[in-house]
Amino acid sequence: VRIAVLSIGDELLWGEIVDTNFARIAARCYDVGLPVTAHRTVGDDEAAIAAALGELAAGADALIVTGGLGPTSDDLTAAAAAKASGVELERNEAALAHVRHMAGRFGGDLPPANEKQALIPTGAVLIDNPLGTACGFSFDLAGCRCFFLPGVPREMERMLEESVLPEILALRRSPLVCRTLVFTVFGPSEAELGTRLEGALPGGRGVTIAYCVSFPEILVKLRATGTSETGVAAALDTAVSIVRPLLGEDLVAEGEEGLDAVLARLLKERGVTLALAESCTGGLLAGRITAVAGSSAYFLEGAVTYANAAKVRVLGVPEPLLAEKGAVSPETAEAMAAGMRRAAGSDLALAVTGIAGPDGGTPDKPVGTVYIALADSGGCLVRHCLFRGSREEIRTITAYTALDWLRRRLLVQ
Ligand code: ATP
Ligand code: MG
Repeated sequence: VRIAVLSIGDELLWGEIVDTNFARIAARCYDVGLPVTAHRTVGDDEAAIAAALGELAAGADALIVTGGLGPTSDDLTAAAAAKASGVELERNEAALAHVRHMAGRFGGDLPPANEKQALIPTGAVLIDNPLGTACGFSFDLAGCRCFFLPGVPREMERMLEESVLPEILALRRSPLVCRTLVFTVFGPSEAELGTRLEGALPGGRGVTIAYCVSFPEILVKLRATGTSETGVAAALDTAVSIVRPLLGEDLVAEGEEGLDAVLARLLKERGVTLALAESCTGGLLAGRITAVAGSSAYFLEGAVTYANAAKVRVLGVPEPLLAEKGAVSPETAEAMAAGMRRAAGSDLALAVTGIAGPDGGTPDKPVGTVYIALADSGGCLVRHCLFRGSREEIRTITAYTALDWLRRRLLVQ
């Protein structure tokens, strides 16, 4: 079953709103084993909608349309649908009763705008909308079943689940099962990862690898398709057992879990406590750590020591050291971590200091220079990093890198 989707609305076309309806429809179709094969967006223009309907229907078995079923003058989908299939719009009594019911007007006159919502292409079948005034409808066009749904996301979703997907599933002859497992990876570049995993999976087993950069992480998606649930699960398991060891410690998390949750789990399992000393990240690390429920079990305290004076007073960084080496230096990072660990009495302390920009860089310490220090009972390790990007990106990747280092440290504990 080839499925096409048509999104309607000027605000979508002009980038004023994000097309979450399409994402939802596509993801749900994929879930039930019917990956979408084509998608188009058109504005609130009757001729453009009619043309897109004709073209998409010609190349699909089912077409899901969203948007433009409302009562206002910019809602043109029903008229365009009638035009595309060469029929008239006619007043549909069941649709009128529905609009009346939803608008709370059982007797008397309906605002003319609402009355317009009862105009449906002749011969179309209504799709119930339990949440709003706009009725959906469906009809066949060039051998393609076309479903028209409102643009309001919760109405669209409900109708998709209750009416459209069941009907589309009934169209298919042999069922297809699609499953995806997402690995979150951090460390290697996308290109390095591609090289590492190249040829890892035997061809023809129905499992593919896709890469997706989700800054600062890389998502490696293993997708399996087949005709049976067990066959697909087995193929995916085999692929996972091949790919997992190749990712090694660069594998941050699997499935829904993210770095923060993994870190929380490791800290709890290892029974170690943590303290943080932050300069350029201004509390981002503490924010992420405490975003996880139950973090009080291992997180003792964090300090945002932005000024040199704060580094001296709160963390005990020696003033002469700051004067000689500078706030952004391996020596200062080390002193911050060691000082924080001492002050908090924690097992581990993580410290970051760097230049997030856009100003403040020098030839030997350009914007993006960051030092991260990790102190434990055995001493203190310092890492130098040079990141590129906007202030926002440098702060984000600094926080991520520091937390990922902690994760790797806990893995070998
Ligand atoms: P209404 O009865 O509200 O007019 P409608 O079927 O005419 O419904 P639209 O006018 O196209 O639908 O959109 C209604 C609202 O739903 C929009 O203002 C927008 O916020 C949201 N919306 C529409 N299409 C989408 C989409 N593809 N993705 C996300 N939101 C959407
Ligand atoms: Mg509308």
